[in-house]
Amino acid sequence: MLREWIQFLNRREIRFRAVFLSDYDMLLAERLVQGVDVWINTPRRPWEACGTSGMKVLVNGGLNLSTLDGWWEEAYAPEAGWAIGDGLEHGDDQACDASEARELYDRLEREVVPAFYRRDGQGIPPEWVARMRESMSRLTPEFSANRAVRQYVERHYLPAADAYRKRTARKGEFSRKAVVWRKDLDKKWNRVRFGALGVEDRDSRQVFSVEVDLAGLDPDGVRVELFANGREGKRADRWTMQTTGIPDPVKGCFLYLVDVPEGRPWTDYTPRIVAHHEGLSVPLEAPHILWQR
Ligand SMILES: *Cc1c(COP(=O)(O)O)cnc(C)c1O
Repeated sequence: MLREWIQFLNRREIRFRAVFLSDYDMLLAERLVQGVDVWINTPRRPWEACGTSGMKVLVNGGLNLSTLDGWWEEAYAPEAGWAIGDGLEHGDDQACDASEARELYDRLEREVVPAFYRRDGQGIPPEWVARMRESMSRLTPEFSANRAVRQYVERHYLPAADAYRKRTARKGEFSRKAVVWRKDLDKKWNRVRFGALGVEDRDSRQVFSVEVDLAGLDPDGVRVELFANGREGKRADRWTMQTTGIPDPVKGCFLYLVDVPEGRPWTDYTPRIVAHHEGLSVPLEAPHILWQR
Protein backbone atom coordinates (compact mmCIF):
# COMPACT_ATOMS: atom_id res chain seq x y z
CA MET A 1 0.00 0.00 0.00
CA LEU A 2 2.83 2.38 0.89
CA ARG A 3 4.57 1.54 -2.38
CA GLU A 4 1.42 2.47 -4.28
CA TRP A 5 1.23 5.76 -2.40
CA ILE A 6 4.84 6.60 -3.22
CA GLN A 7 4.25 5.77 -6.88
CA PHE A 8 1.17 7.98 -6.90
CA LEU A 9 3.08 10.85 -5.28
CA ASN A 10 5.83 10.52 -7.90
CA ARG A 11 3.47 11.33 -10.75
CA ARG A 12 4.40 14.57 -12.41
CA GLU A 13 1.07 16.30 -11.73
CA ILE A 14 1.12 15.29 -8.06
CA ARG A 15 4.79 15.61 -7.17
CA PHE A 16 4.75 19.24 -6.05
CA ARG A 17 1.32 19.11 -4.48
CA ALA A 18 1.48 16.32 -1.94
CA VAL A 19 3.90 14.81 0.53
CA PHE A 20 3.98 11.53 2.35
CA LEU A 21 5.09 11.90 5.97
CA SER A 22 6.54 8.67 7.28
CA ASP A 23 6.87 7.55 10.90
CA TYR A 24 3.90 9.45 12.28
CA ASP A 25 4.64 9.90 15.96
CA MET A 26 3.68 12.35 18.72
CA LEU A 27 6.36 14.84 17.76
CA LEU A 28 5.23 14.93 14.15
CA ALA A 29 1.57 14.99 15.22
CA GLU A 30 2.29 17.96 17.47
CA ARG A 31 3.82 19.93 14.59
CA LEU A 32 0.94 19.05 12.27
CA VAL A 33 -1.93 19.89 14.59
CA GLN A 34 -0.28 23.17 15.59
CA GLY A 35 0.49 24.12 12.04
CA VAL A 36 -2.69 23.52 10.06
CA ASP A 37 -5.70 25.74 9.51
CA VAL A 38 -7.97 22.99 8.21
CA TRP A 39 -7.71 19.31 9.04
CA ILE A 40 -9.17 17.23 6.23
CA ASN A 41 -9.98 13.62 6.97
CA THR A 42 -11.73 11.55 4.32
CA PRO A 43 -12.25 7.96 5.48
CA ARG A 44 -14.84 5.79 3.81
CA ARG A 45 -17.57 5.06 6.30
CA PRO A 46 -17.41 3.12 8.63
CA TRP A 47 -13.61 2.90 8.71
CA GLU A 48 -12.73 5.91 10.83
CA ALA A 49 -11.93 4.24 14.16
CA CYS A 50 -12.31 7.50 16.04
CA GLY A 51 -10.44 10.51 14.70
CA THR A 52 -8.33 11.64 17.64
CA SER A 53 -6.25 13.84 15.34
CA GLY A 54 -9.26 16.01 14.64
CA MET A 55 -9.73 16.54 18.38
CA LYS A 56 -6.10 17.54 18.78
CA VAL A 57 -6.64 20.09 16.02
CA LEU A 58 -9.55 21.64 17.96
CA VAL A 59 -7.48 22.78 20.90
CA ASN A 60 -4.94 24.28 18.52
CA GLY A 61 -7.55 26.45 16.86
CA GLY A 62 -7.69 24.46 13.62
CA LEU A 63 -10.97 23.62 11.91
CA ASN A 64 -12.19 20.23 10.76
CA LEU A 65 -13.46 19.29 7.33
CA SER A 66 -14.22 15.60 7.44
CA THR A 67 -16.43 12.73 6.48
CA LEU A 68 -19.34 12.19 8.87
CA ASP A 69 -17.77 9.19 10.54
CA GLY A 70 -16.13 8.42 13.89
CA TRP A 71 -16.04 11.36 16.28
CA TRP A 72 -16.97 13.90 13.59
CA GLU A 73 -20.37 12.34 13.16
CA GLU A 74 -21.00 13.13 16.84
CA ALA A 75 -19.24 16.47 16.96
CA TYR A 76 -20.06 18.15 13.67
CA ALA A 77 -22.10 21.34 13.77
CA PRO A 78 -22.31 23.71 10.78
CA GLU A 79 -21.12 26.63 12.93
CA ALA A 80 -17.99 24.73 14.01
CA GLY A 81 -16.62 23.10 10.84
CA TRP A 82 -17.52 21.35 7.61
CA ALA A 83 -18.76 17.88 6.77
CA ILE A 84 -18.78 15.73 3.67
CA GLY A 85 -20.78 12.63 2.81
CA ASP A 86 -24.33 11.68 3.64
CA GLY A 87 -23.53 9.70 6.79
CA LEU A 88 -24.40 6.41 5.09
CA GLU A 89 -22.19 3.46 4.19
CA HIS A 90 -21.46 2.87 0.53
CA GLY A 91 -18.83 0.09 0.60
CA ASP A 92 -16.58 0.10 -2.45
CA ASP A 93 -18.91 2.19 -4.59
CA GLN A 94 -16.65 4.21 -6.90
CA ALA A 95 -19.46 6.55 -7.87
CA CYS A 96 -19.90 7.51 -4.22
CA ASP A 97 -16.17 8.10 -3.82
CA ALA A 98 -16.34 10.37 -6.86
CA SER A 99 -19.34 12.29 -5.58
CA GLU A 100 -17.72 12.73 -2.15
CA ALA A 101 -14.55 13.96 -3.84
CA ARG A 102 -16.61 16.49 -5.81
CA GLU A 103 -18.31 17.53 -2.59
CA LEU A 104 -14.90 18.01 -0.93
CA TYR A 105 -13.59 20.22 -3.74
CA ASP A 106 -16.85 22.14 -3.90
CA ARG A 107 -16.79 22.83 -0.19
CA LEU A 108 -13.16 23.92 -0.32
CA GLU A 109 -13.72 26.18 -3.31
CA ARG A 110 -17.01 27.74 -2.29
CA GLU A 111 -16.85 27.82 1.51
CA VAL A 112 -13.51 27.03 3.11
CA VAL A 113 -11.10 28.99 0.96
CA PRO A 114 -13.30 32.12 0.66
CA ALA A 115 -13.90 32.13 4.43
CA PHE A 116 -10.16 31.94 5.03
CA TYR A 117 -9.28 34.80 2.66
CA ARG A 118 -12.15 37.18 3.41
CA ARG A 119 -10.29 39.67 5.63
CA ASP A 120 -11.35 42.84 7.36
CA GLY A 121 -9.33 46.10 7.46
CA GLN A 122 -6.92 44.61 9.99
CA GLY A 123 -6.31 41.48 7.96
CA ILE A 124 -8.45 39.30 10.21
CA PRO A 125 -10.88 36.78 8.65
CA PRO A 126 -13.98 37.38 10.84
CA GLU A 127 -16.00 34.43 9.56
CA TRP A 128 -13.07 32.07 10.11
CA VAL A 129 -12.40 33.37 13.59
CA ALA A 130 -16.07 32.95 14.49
CA ARG A 131 -15.85 29.31 13.47
CA MET A 132 -12.64 28.81 15.44
CA ARG A 133 -14.29 30.23 18.54
CA GLU A 134 -17.35 28.09 18.05
CA SER A 135 -15.30 24.96 17.41
CA MET A 136 -13.07 25.51 20.44
CA SER A 137 -15.75 26.54 22.91
CA ARG A 138 -18.34 24.04 21.84
CA LEU A 139 -16.24 20.95 21.16
CA THR A 140 -13.07 21.00 23.27
CA PRO A 141 -14.86 20.50 26.62
CA GLU A 142 -16.50 17.37 25.30
CA PHE A 143 -13.88 15.83 23.03
CA SER A 144 -10.88 15.76 25.32
CA ALA A 145 -8.93 13.37 27.50
CA ASN A 146 -9.86 15.57 30.49
CA ARG A 147 -13.51 14.82 29.97
CA ALA A 148 -12.88 11.14 29.29
CA VAL A 149 -10.73 10.62 32.39
CA ARG A 150 -13.16 12.59 34.57
CA GLN A 151 -16.02 10.44 33.31
CA TYR A 152 -14.08 7.25 34.01
CA VAL A 153 -13.36 8.48 37.52
CA GLU A 154 -16.92 9.58 38.25
CA ARG A 155 -18.77 6.71 36.61
CA HIS A 156 -16.43 3.81 37.25
CA TYR A 157 -13.39 4.32 39.49
CA LEU A 158 -15.14 6.07 42.39
CA PRO A 159 -18.11 3.65 42.44
CA ALA A 160 -15.60 0.77 42.25
CA ALA A 161 -13.66 2.20 45.20
CA ASP A 162 -16.93 2.57 47.14
CA ALA A 163 -17.90 -0.98 46.32
CA TYR A 164 -14.50 -2.19 47.47
CA ARG A 165 -14.92 -0.43 50.81
CA LYS A 166 -18.41 -1.81 51.22
CA ARG A 167 -17.29 -5.35 50.42
CA THR A 168 -14.33 -5.34 52.77
CA ALA A 169 -16.02 -3.59 55.72
CA ARG A 170 -16.62 -5.58 58.93
CA LYS A 171 -14.23 -8.34 57.94
CA GLY A 172 -15.90 -8.74 54.55
CA GLU A 173 -19.43 -9.37 55.84
CA PHE A 174 -21.06 -8.27 52.57
CA SER A 175 -18.72 -10.38 50.46
CA ARG A 176 -19.29 -13.46 52.57
CA LYS A 177 -23.05 -13.11 52.18
CA ALA A 178 -22.62 -12.60 48.45
CA VAL A 179 -20.57 -15.78 48.16
CA VAL A 180 -23.24 -17.74 50.03
CA TRP A 181 -25.89 -16.30 47.68
CA ARG A 182 -23.82 -17.18 44.62
CA LYS A 183 -23.15 -20.74 45.78
CA ASP A 184 -26.85 -21.29 46.48
CA LEU A 185 -27.62 -19.95 42.99
CA ASP A 186 -25.08 -22.28 41.37
CA LYS A 187 -26.44 -25.26 43.27
CA LYS A 188 -30.13 -24.76 42.50
CA TRP A 189 -30.10 -22.97 39.12
CA ASN A 190 -30.32 -26.14 36.99
CA ARG A 191 -33.62 -27.00 38.61
CA VAL A 192 -35.26 -23.59 38.16
CA ARG A 193 -38.21 -23.97 35.76
CA PHE A 194 -40.86 -21.93 34.06
CA GLY A 195 -44.47 -23.05 34.29
CA ALA A 196 -47.48 -21.78 32.38
CA LEU A 197 -47.45 -18.38 30.65
CA GLY A 198 -50.64 -16.36 30.47
CA VAL A 199 -51.52 -13.21 28.54
CA GLU A 200 -54.68 -11.23 28.98
CA ASP A 201 -55.91 -7.92 27.54
CA ARG A 202 -57.16 -5.54 30.20
CA ASP A 203 -58.14 -1.94 29.41
CA SER A 204 -55.48 -0.84 27.01
CA ARG A 205 -52.82 -3.00 28.62
CA GLN A 206 -51.54 -6.55 28.32
CA VAL A 207 -51.20 -8.51 31.54
CA PHE A 208 -48.53 -11.20 31.47
CA SER A 209 -48.35 -13.86 34.14
CA VAL A 210 -45.90 -16.70 34.44
CA GLU A 211 -45.33 -19.44 36.96
CA VAL A 212 -41.80 -20.00 38.16
CA ASP A 213 -40.44 -22.89 40.18
CA LEU A 214 -37.47 -21.35 41.97
CA ALA A 215 -36.21 -24.75 43.19
CA GLY A 216 -35.80 -23.40 46.70
CA LEU A 217 -34.09 -20.12 45.76
CA ASP A 218 -35.09 -16.99 47.63
CA PRO A 219 -37.29 -14.80 45.36
CA ASP A 220 -35.22 -11.81 46.49
CA GLY A 221 -32.12 -13.36 44.90
CA VAL A 222 -33.50 -13.39 41.37
CA ARG A 223 -35.37 -11.09 39.05
CA VAL A 224 -38.00 -12.23 36.57
CA GLU A 225 -38.20 -9.97 33.55
CA LEU A 226 -40.39 -9.71 30.49
CA PHE A 227 -38.12 -9.04 27.56
CA ALA A 228 -38.59 -7.95 23.95
CA ASN A 229 -35.88 -7.01 21.45
CA GLY A 230 -35.63 -3.32 20.63
CA ARG A 231 -37.20 -2.25 17.38
CA GLU A 232 -35.54 -0.06 14.74
CA GLY A 233 -32.28 0.26 16.65
CA LYS A 234 -34.05 1.22 19.89
CA ARG A 235 -33.28 -0.25 23.30
CA ALA A 236 -34.82 -3.56 24.32
CA ASP A 237 -38.09 -3.46 26.29
CA ARG A 238 -37.46 -4.88 29.76
CA TRP A 239 -40.17 -5.08 32.38
CA THR A 240 -39.59 -6.41 35.88
CA MET A 241 -42.30 -8.89 36.84
CA GLN A 242 -43.63 -8.81 40.41
CA THR A 243 -44.51 -11.65 42.73
CA THR A 244 -46.37 -11.71 46.01
CA GLY A 245 -43.52 -13.85 47.32
CA ILE A 246 -45.97 -16.50 48.51
CA PRO A 247 -45.64 -19.79 46.63
CA ASP A 248 -48.63 -21.74 45.35
CA PRO A 249 -49.48 -24.16 48.18
CA VAL A 250 -49.85 -27.12 45.84
CA LYS A 251 -47.29 -26.61 43.07
CA GLY A 252 -44.77 -24.64 45.07
CA CYS A 253 -44.43 -22.17 42.16
CA PHE A 254 -44.33 -18.41 42.44
CA LEU A 255 -46.62 -16.41 40.19
CA TYR A 256 -45.02 -13.40 38.51
CA LEU A 257 -47.07 -10.62 36.93
CA VAL A 258 -46.56 -7.48 34.93
CA ASP A 259 -48.81 -5.34 32.79
CA VAL A 260 -47.37 -3.53 29.80
CA PRO A 261 -48.91 -0.98 27.47
CA GLU A 262 -50.44 -2.28 24.25
CA GLY A 263 -48.53 -1.72 21.06
CA ARG A 264 -46.45 -4.83 20.51
CA PRO A 265 -47.79 -8.31 19.77
CA TRP A 266 -47.56 -10.51 22.85
CA THR A 267 -45.41 -12.98 20.89
CA ASP A 268 -42.60 -10.37 20.89
CA TYR A 269 -42.15 -10.89 24.63
CA THR A 270 -40.27 -13.66 26.43
CA PRO A 271 -39.98 -13.97 30.21
CA ARG A 272 -36.52 -14.66 31.58
CA ILE A 273 -34.94 -15.12 34.99
CA VAL A 274 -31.70 -13.44 35.92
CA ALA A 275 -29.68 -13.28 39.12
CA HIS A 276 -30.24 -10.26 41.35
CA HIS A 277 -28.24 -9.02 44.30
CA GLU A 278 -28.05 -5.48 45.64
CA GLY A 279 -24.52 -4.13 45.16
CA LEU A 280 -23.35 -6.82 42.74
CA SER A 281 -22.97 -6.44 38.99
CA VAL A 282 -25.14 -8.80 36.98
CA PRO A 283 -24.31 -10.48 34.63
CA LEU A 284 -20.62 -9.78 35.37
CA GLU A 285 -20.67 -11.50 38.76
CA ALA A 286 -23.52 -13.93 38.15
CA PRO A 287 -24.15 -14.76 34.48
CA HIS A 288 -27.15 -17.00 35.22
CA ILE A 289 -30.02 -16.54 32.82
CA LEU A 290 -32.98 -18.75 32.00
CA TRP A 291 -35.37 -18.02 29.11
CA GLN A 292 -38.92 -19.29 28.96
CA ARG A 293 -39.36 -21.32 25.76
C1 LIG B 1 -3.26 11.52 17.15
C2 LIG B 1 -2.37 10.41 16.79
C3 LIG B 1 -2.89 9.27 16.17
C4 LIG B 1 -4.35 9.12 15.86
O1 LIG B 1 -4.56 9.58 14.58
P1 LIG B 1 -6.00 9.49 13.88
O2 LIG B 1 -5.90 10.43 12.75
O3 LIG B 1 -7.01 9.90 14.88
O4 LIG B 1 -6.15 8.10 13.45
C5 LIG B 1 -2.03 8.26 15.82
N1 LIG B 1 -0.71 8.32 16.08
C6 LIG B 1 -0.16 9.41 16.67
C7 LIG B 1 1.31 9.44 16.94
C8 LIG B 1 -0.98 10.49 17.06
O5 LIG B 1 -0.42 11.54 17.68
